[in-house]
Amino acid sequence: MSNALTIRSVLAQTAARLDDVSESGRLDAEILLARAIDMPRSYLFAHPEDTIDDASAERLETTVQLRLSGEPMAYITGVKEFWSLELMVSPATLVPRPETEILVESALREIPRDAAWRILDLGTGSGAIALAIASDRPLCDVTAVDISPEALAIAQQNARQLTISNVSFLEGDWIEPVADQRFAVICSNPPYVSEGDEALAALAAEPRLALLSGNSGLDAIELLARDCVSIIADNGTLFLEHGATQKDQVAEILKSYGWTSIQCYDDYAGHPRVTCAHFSNSETP
Ligand code: GLN
Repeated sequence: MSNALTIRSVLAQTAARLDDVSESGRLDAEILLARAIDMPRSYLFAHPEDTIDDASAERLETTVQLRLSGEPMAYITGVKEFWSLELMVSPATLVPRPETEILVESALREIPRDAAWRILDLGTGSGAIALAIASDRPLCDVTAVDISPEALAIAQQNARQLTISNVSFLEGDWIEPVADQRFAVICSNPPYVSEGDEALAALAAEPRLALLSGNSGLDAIELLARDCVSIIADNGTLFLEHGATQKDQVAEILKSYGWTSIQCYDDYAGHPRVTCAHFSNSETP
């Protein structure tokens, strides 16, 4: 072909198109083009004058169309990096967010390196929280629960792929499959978006089940505050992710079910995002 497309020109055109829908149009273009020609991203910089064949151009166009229609990069590539772990994701799971790393970080501060504690992740999705904690605390015994068999299958594949063996996976509705057990630390990134929230438009590709939680967005958090009381070990700690405007309501809810020493941590954008609370059984007669 006389008007051969080079890597340089295709990247420039693709980045300009993606800039309309993405905050990282150039990076997205690089990732999609590298996949279309089945080469690492570094190849693009080393060979900007290489030409792209028709089949690669077609493969690229298919994924660019998906991206332009609002599909998150993680669903197109099937992977997302979280806590230095490369996780498989699918439309059955939320795309793990940097905010959730704040939850992992604060939970790890609570768990000594040599602790062999029982840890629970409720609504594990891709397994992000459970796998991050399990990989940093190999002596701990982590249980991950999700109601979605499709999400759980992804989480289990991630554990296998990453050869993390100290996590067990259970299907069920919140605490139901672990109701007779006790955990020193319970974590959850539950759904916390309210029905009708305008932020939902930007989250259209992600599972409603993992996002929406009633009119206030607080239904799942209320349920967890209530039910985790019966499965938390004495002096155990609960870590909950929540919306940027929910800090005070979450603290009120936790207090009303007897949780104490309630503390909130900000995410990277400075929004209050993760609340932790303790529970002491010995205070009840
Ligand atoms: N963090 C997601 C958001 O961007 C929501 C995730 C959730 O509901 N747990 O709104």
